[in-house]
Amino acid sequence: MRFPLSLTLGMAGYIARNKMRPPKQWQVNAASSAEDASNPFRIIHTSVPRERRRQHPMIGKRFPLVLMLEPLHTCNLTCTGCGRIREYESTITERLTLAQCLRASDECAAPIVSICGGEPLLYPEIGPLAAALLERGRHIYLCTNGMFIRKRLHLFRPHESFFLNVHLDGMEKTHDLAVEKQGVFRDAIEGIKAAKAAGFKVCTNTTVYKETDMREIEELFAYLEPFGVDGHMISPAYGYSAVNVREIFLTRDDVRDKFAGIDRLSKRFRLNSTPAYLEFLKGDRELPCTAWGNPTYNVKGWKGPCYLITDAHYETFEELMTRTPWESYGAGNDPRCEHCMVHCGYEPSAALGINSKLTDSFKLVSWAFR
Ligand code: SF4
Repeated sequence: MRFPLSLTLGMAGYIARNKMRPPKQWQVNAASSAEDASNPFRIIHTSVPRERRRQHPMIGKRFPLVLMLEPLHTCNLTCTGCGRIREYESTITERLTLAQCLRASDECAAPIVSICGGEPLLYPEIGPLAAALLERGRHIYLCTNGMFIRKRLHLFRPHESFFLNVHLDGMEKTHDLAVEKQGVFRDAIEGIKAAKAAGFKVCTNTTVYKETDMREIEELFAYLEPFGVDGHMISPAYGYSAVNVREIFLTRDDVRDKFAGIDRLSKRFRLNSTPAYLEFLKGDRELPCTAWGNPTYNVKGWKGPCYLITDAHYETFEELMTRTPWESYGAGNDPRCEHCMVHCGYEPSAALGINSKLTDSFKLVSWAFR
């Protein structure tokens, strides 16, 4: 099975319940609230009558699937494509308290928590944080560059809902270049081996840039096979405005070219990306952005609208959900979204079955149980 049964069934039940009864408090539409007739400053769309406007397929059905929890932005590396260490430079030494992390998870109640950063293994309370989230029944993906796995492994215990998610963008030479430090690949591999030997679940996380050779990604996944890695996440890079190396990022056409042969990879290796998201990447289906499905919380608060672009930080999750004009984002609505195809914006759309086809259920079941 691709994921533990508890995760597969728990997620299916959570999605079904929330689709049937979406939490009312999160469905206020900030974009259309500007059209409240009592508001003298409301924007009146004269060109497209209200009844003919295209509504987002999940309008009024917003709920989170994965919380992106960033307890700190401090990192021991300065990866070329990283937006965090640049955008949060002024707060790079600050960190959330354990209580703030847990309150964020309780507020949004997403079944999966992706602990990222920064380097989360530098967070002093990472052990108690993981234990407390597991106690709350959350599934955890701890996203790490892998360098401190061996040193910090004793802080955790193997659990079917706890995954170490190790960042690897290519084989040794390429990866060390991307993270701007020699020896990182080797440390990460040693960390993976140690974690697997101790009974932990481990997956890898790969970002595809313009210069990525997809044959090398195949070589990487084949290299990792003997270590018993439990799955691979793969996503095209997003062109952060905070990152000045513009030529490393992909346009939508570039993404489709890169992912044209993804079927071969997904047949040979255990990719954690859903079949619908992979079809989106190779241009076989359209998906709308559902950034609210992957909310981000960090030292500045709830980051809106998404993991990638920042227009506001909100104090509460409810404010993020109700004050963000969700309809203003996504390709065609905001130029910053034009080339975005990253998993945190579109995997929720795939998981929620937006723009689904007749064969999707069959594909999803056979993918989940393979
Ligand atoms: S399309 Fe991408 S950049 Fe735009 S809101 Fe969605 S996730 Fe964020």
